[in-house]
Amino acid sequence: MIVANARILTFDGGNRVLDSGAVEMRDDGSIGAVTEGPPPPGAETLDAGGRLLMPALINCHTHLYSTLARGLALPGRAPANFPEILRKLWWRLDRALDEEDVYYSALIGLVDSAKCGVGTLIDHHSSPNACPGSLDRIEQAFREAGLRGALCYETSDRNGAAEARRGIAENVRCLERVRGSGGSLVSGCFGLHASFTLSDRTLRQAVEANQSLGAGFHLHVAEDRCDGQHARRLGYRSTVRRLLEAEILGPRCVAAHCVHVSAADLALLAREGVNVVHNPQSNCGNAVGAAKLVEMMRAGVLTGLGTDGYTPRLWDEFKTALHVQRLRRRDPRVGAPEAYAALLNNRAIARKVWGLEIGRIETGARADLILVDYHPPTTLTADNLFGHLLFGIANATVDSLWVNGRPVVREKQCVTVNERALSAKAAARARSLWERI
Ligand SMILES: [Zn+2]
Repeated sequence: MIVANARILTFDGGNRVLDSGAVEMRDDGSIGAVTEGPPPPGAETLDAGGRLLMPALINCHTHLYSTLARGLALPGRAPANFPEILRKLWWRLDRALDEEDVYYSALIGLVDSAKCGVGTLIDHHSSPNACPGSLDRIEQAFREAGLRGALCYETSDRNGAAEARRGIAENVRCLERVRGSGGSLVSGCFGLHASFTLSDRTLRQAVEANQSLGAGFHLHVAEDRCDGQHARRLGYRSTVRRLLEAEILGPRCVAAHCVHVSAADLALLAREGVNVVHNPQSNCGNAVGAAKLVEMMRAGVLTGLGTDGYTPRLWDEFKTALHVQRLRRRDPRVGAPEAYAALLNNRAIARKVWGLEIGRIETGARADLILVDYHPPTTLTADNLFGHLLFGIANATVDSLWVNGRPVVREKQCVTVNERALSAKAAARARSLWERI
């Protein structure tokens, strides 16, 4: 099938903007010919009506299990700091989840993401009372929605050593399964919650369990000051040093946040080739601090963007990344190059996790594409693309999304699931879930 009569943002090596062109989606889910002008006669064609065609977005860190928390109000005093937010909200919610909640929260989160133009998500899951098999239910949701995902379970000692062992086992089971399935749509990481909820023993066991699997670890790093304080109490110079010594870091490691890191930590993260994921809205919401995105980039740390479950709209993180850096440094010259680079770095992170080419429109890459209702009133070129992304495209409606060449959203509706029926079912699950929290 060929999408024709589209304005195309290629995000390829030349970062080309084609005013009117056509993109072929091959039957094997890859991109075929990318051409300017009208498509060849006789081909099966979808007329894009001059809309904007660009690569689907990638969310490098999220928690689909948090979807059913929307609107949840907990009685009593508001949490005063990050550990209280975890104890009062997230660790109560995740303990209340059963297997069906895990499936419905994942599916709802995926539909919401798809309608915001996100085709790929790297998820970080926790459901301590429904741990074994939970990743299978999330995998089922990804396959039904038709989105690309990397799954993992947040191993943690916070509910005891037996639960940590269950977390390790769930990661191992999932990684062995997805490895056998080819892994093009669903892949996996080895999930760890965060340094401050993990014992040295559990870290050792996780590294041992991962030895033959070779997956990257996916965990929260130095999100709040409490993580570094915990590492220092154990005798380490920092969270990053502790994780380095435990052999958790490496080129496939996905480290969310890294808000409280020193220049020495940044040098280590760059040296180890760690993929840092910046989640600025969550950092604002939890009041944990502003990550040093500008300094991270200058230190050579590969830094991408995630939503941390705060929103399905990756575009909002892109905008917030820019604004937080500008305000933090009180310098209107910074933020734009870093936010832009972080958005584009997500494809490099996805390549390291999956070994797949996504996030660009060029022959041979996966056909993960979005069609956006964007008809700009001003000139759009490769040179002024950032301004259009920030002030226009990020706010425009996503008309269609394809993943692996398969339609997921068409004419603003998710075509892989019955959205109305799903919402009704999820709302019933949420009512029951909230009563158990
Ligand atoms: Zn997170």
